[in-house]
Amino acid sequence: MSITKTDTMEELLEKGLDFFYKHFPESKKPDKMGVGPGRVNLIGEHTDYNDGYVLPMALPMVTIMLGRANNTDTCRVVTACVDFDDTIDSNRTEFKIPTVKPLSVGTPKWANYVKGVIACFQSIVVGFDAVILSSVPLGGGLSSSASLEVATYSFIEAITGNKTIQLVKKAMVCQKAEHMFAGVPCGIMDQFISVMGVHGHALLIDCKTLQYQPVPLTENTYVFLITNSNIHHELSNGQYQLRRYQCEEASDLLNVPSLRLATMDNLNRVHFEGKINQIIYKRARHVITEIERTKSAADALARGNYKMFGELMNDSHNSLRDDFEVSCPELDQLVELARKVPGVLGSRMTGGGFGGCTVTLVNRTAVNTVVETISTEYTQNPKFYVVSPSCGARIFTTL
Ligand code: ADP
Ligand code: MG
Repeated sequence: MSITKTDTMEELLEKGLDFFYKHFPESKKPDKMGVGPGRVNLIGEHTDYNDGYVLPMALPMVTIMLGRANNTDTCRVVTACVDFDDTIDSNRTEFKIPTVKPLSVGTPKWANYVKGVIACFQSIVVGFDAVILSSVPLGGGLSSSASLEVATYSFIEAITGNKTIQLVKKAMVCQKAEHMFAGVPCGIMDQFISVMGVHGHALLIDCKTLQYQPVPLTENTYVFLITNSNIHHELSNGQYQLRRYQCEEASDLLNVPSLRLATMDNLNRVHFEGKINQIIYKRARHVITEIERTKSAADALARGNYKMFGELMNDSHNSLRDDFEVSCPELDQLVELARKVPGVLGSRMTGGGFGGCTVTLVNRTAVNTVVETISTEYTQNPKFYVVSPSCGARIFTTL
């Protein structure tokens, strides 16, 4: 097992041109492109919908949408990748730009992300032919969904010439599309980092004020290794909803608008008085301590203290496993295997949980040992990516 090499944006573009001609042989050369990266969250998990902090970085893996206006009122879109187990999903969709009746959710499922963005866009969209290609693994916890929304939005900006100046607004529209058209009540993190990512930096995002601060990741000795567990437990959606309710219950009990404003002192007092059950107590403890950890981690990174950053990653995982209970045996195993390799500073699950990926901070010289160790012991066909922080959304008006 070795490190997976993913297509760069340029390689995707080259493949995308062939793919476009294959599906739209009568069309002229595509002249517009939108690009949205995937993301990995380094620390700050399940804090975004609690008004807390997150610390993600944009990935070199991207989704591109490539095409041209077709002078009709119809959009024709083909994707090069749909979920393999989704056998009823066609990779092609066609729909009319709404004039009277708004666009609605339908099949194929993946097209809802595209339709959602068009429906929520700031102006009327014109008909177009386009293809979608991606180097972000689908459903693997690296936010292929946000990268698709952001690529679509950026493509529509190119097609209409109507660019959104306020980038936060762009992220919020993409989030709204995911809420309304994919039925996923996600926080703002994924779309925010996909729009706003800064090359060479992670972003400390305050999900309450939506202000952010780029934190440089300049150290060359250490790298981030992503390991895809290749597992996706079905309970993740229901459990995500349940965690959101449990956090609301905790903030109601603590009499604060969100857990961002709660403290461990408050929580312990209510616990001591017997006014909170053990499960809700543990959920709140995760969120309160994770918000603190995320701030400390950004601080450590800014000071170049990678050792401390790694320790905080470990604490974060342990809290997600024991208090928030969103890990699973496979993620725990990956983390344990990585942690025992000398040169690993920290390892944790990343994303919502119940499968998806882990992220490991490791000395560059020890990467191969981690990969070998995991490959020998973990039998579910893991995939490995060494990633560096990349830039956010891009709009190309000529190709
Ligand atoms: P994640 O965002 O972690 O990758 P999600 O379940 O949120 O996982 O999103 C995955 C879904 O997004 C896919 O099942 C598919 O419907 C859609 N999707 C993402 N990227 C693409 C793509 N390039 N082409 C078609 N659909 C995509
Ligand atoms: Mg997603």
